[in-house]
Amino acid sequence: MNASPDHVDVLIIGAGPAGVAAAAVLHQKGHDVLVVEKSTFPRFVIGESLLPHSMDLLEAAGLLKAAEARGYLKKYGAAFLRDDELAEFDFSEQHTEGWAWTWQVPRDDFDLVLVNAAQEMGVPVQFRHEVTAYEPGDELSAVTIRDEEGAERTVHARFVVDASGYGRVLPRLLELDRPSTLPLRHSLFDWFEGDVREEGTLEGRTWVCMHPAGETWIWVIPFSNGRTSIGVVATPEFLAKYPEDPRERLLAICAEEPNVARRLANAKLAMEPVNIAGYSTSVTALHGKGWVLVGNSGEFLDPVFSAGVTVALESSVLAAGLVHEQLSGTDVDWDAQYAQPLSSAIAVYRSFIDGWYSGDLPEIFFNERQEPEVKAQICSVLAGYLLDATNPFVAQHKRKVPVLAKVLRGLREQA
Ligand SMILES: Cc1cc2nc3c(=O)[nH]c(=O)nc-3n(C[C@H](O)[C@H](O)[C@H](O)COP(=O)(O)OP(=O)(O)OC[C@H]3O[C@@H](n4cnc5c(N)ncnc54)[C@H](O)[C@@H]3O)c2cc1C
Repeated sequence: MNASPDHVDVLIIGAGPAGVAAAAVLHQKGHDVLVVEKSTFPRFVIGESLLPHSMDLLEAAGLLKAAEARGYLKKYGAAFLRDDELAEFDFSEQHTEGWAWTWQVPRDDFDLVLVNAAQEMGVPVQFRHEVTAYEPGDELSAVTIRDEEGAERTVHARFVVDASGYGRVLPRLLELDRPSTLPLRHSLFDWFEGDVREEGTLEGRTWVCMHPAGETWIWVIPFSNGRTSIGVVATPEFLAKYPEDPRERLLAICAEEPNVARRLANAKLAMEPVNIAGYSTSVTALHGKGWVLVGNSGEFLDPVFSAGVTVALESSVLAAGLVHEQLSGTDVDWDAQYAQPLSSAIAVYRSFIDGWYSGDLPEIFFNERQEPEVKAQICSVLAGYLLDATNPFVAQHKRKVPVLAKVLRGLREQA
């Protein structure tokens, strides 16, 4: 196909996992697609720990094999740590039938692998091209694209998939932004070299360590390249109590959590720390006539359960299937078939995130009276299986976490 077409079936904004998965699905279904990406790959992006359900979605998009060849560190579970208490989740012990493992992925490498695989399928990708304007139309919408020299051109598309992540192209251009209802939190993170790792199949699990000061927590995500990603998530008020210099700040907070401190005893920072302020996003609509938001361009809540990429892939694979149906002449009810399932999945996480910060989920995780069956149900949510209505923690997520926490707290206090 022409490298700079004037018309395409589907124009996809952004070549992150959500954009590439949507492009791959639609290309394989025979549609003429174009991916427009403003940066050059590889590029740094945060979001390095996958969930097992992402493997189903990568497979559905035909991208799993390419990632397999990279030998990423396998993640068989997650561990939550609070001082000397440990709550372990093993993905082979789940309520939902699904993948028992996934990967920890440096995203510069992973995203490059995915986009290369899509290009090898025949998906055209224009790097260093930025979408700057969008004009809706009856049959075709007009998308303005600016190249690195500043030259602009217009591409007409039957459908636009916005996978621009934190770029949030259509939410900005169509004024869909809605403030998140989650409190403002920041994240300060870095890669380390030389941390003391766990052994065998435990090496690749994610640690989520609760800082002694309460709602602050620290992630530990090891990679096969010897580096380990470590990040603090906290309110701006908490962070302001520490040195202003980002390195000193990160090291000082890590030194206060005993598990991270032990792990980092002889480790060295591998780059300048990165700070992200106020990462939660929300929108007033996930779709409209001729467009849909997928991945982080729509909604992002909080990184505590490492769900961002999995939800991004879930939304893009679902949306791509529906775009295919619509372009093939089938009526699609975008509310019922897209917004509702996606919002339900996000709502399950919202309940878990609220439970994490309220203390209900730590009460459940660290309570020895937790039933194996209940643990397996929670494990499936942590593995990213958010649409399995047979799981009570999916079907009744709003009440399940607070009610169970209340019961377990009562039993603990009586003992
Ligand atoms: C602190 C923190 C920690 C996180 N940890 C995890 C984790 O452990 N696991 C996890 O799964 N998720 C995590 N996430 C979430 C994760 O970062 C995102 O969910 C994920 O990257 C979303 O993928 P995406 O494809 O939607 O967007 P992205 O990966 O951000 O890709 C969007 C692409 O669009 C391009 N773009 C932007 N604007 C334009 C434009 N105007 N024109 C053309 N292209 C454009 C960008 O250059 C970019 O390449 C974390 C998030 C935060 C804030």
